[in-house]
Amino acid sequence: MGRVATTSALEKRNIIVPKKNCVFCDYISETVEHLFSGCIFATGIWAAVTSWCRIPNIFVFSVRDIVDLHKSVGLDGITKIAFQGIMFTALWSIWRARNNHIFSEKKQSVLDLVTEIKTVSFLWFRSRYRYGCIDWKDWCNFEMM
Ligand SMILES: [Zn+2]
Repeated sequence: MGRVATTSALEKRNIIVPKKNCVFCDYISETVEHLFSGCIFATGIWAAVTSWCRIPNIFVFSVRDIVDLHKSVGLDGITKIAFQGIMFTALWSIWRARNNHIFSEKKQSVLDLVTEIKTVSFLWFRSRYRYGCIDWKDWCNFEMM
């Protein structure tokens, strides 16, 4: 929706940004679409997440594609809700990794971030899951019931 403060968005608001390229690949200017869908770093995240959730490899071209993906991957019920939460957690984690890289000089690998996504989304899902108990092993195998 044009509200994420990427370097391209900040430049449009006449804010001087010292480094304009994507922090993950340093290949092109950082836009929302590049950061979350076009960057090789994001592509690695989506490949790992969809593999974990046993979804055929996806191609996302925009943030909207990512936000709506749970509607079109053949999941239903609690599994669909869990997958949606995982995708939102992944978006948030990519943004956090980007900010950690810029402001704390902390670089994370795709593997580090996927581990973080699994952990954070598990804590979220477990705290909201009302149909019994879900354990870490089931979560890591993407088995909700
Ligand atoms: Zn990039």
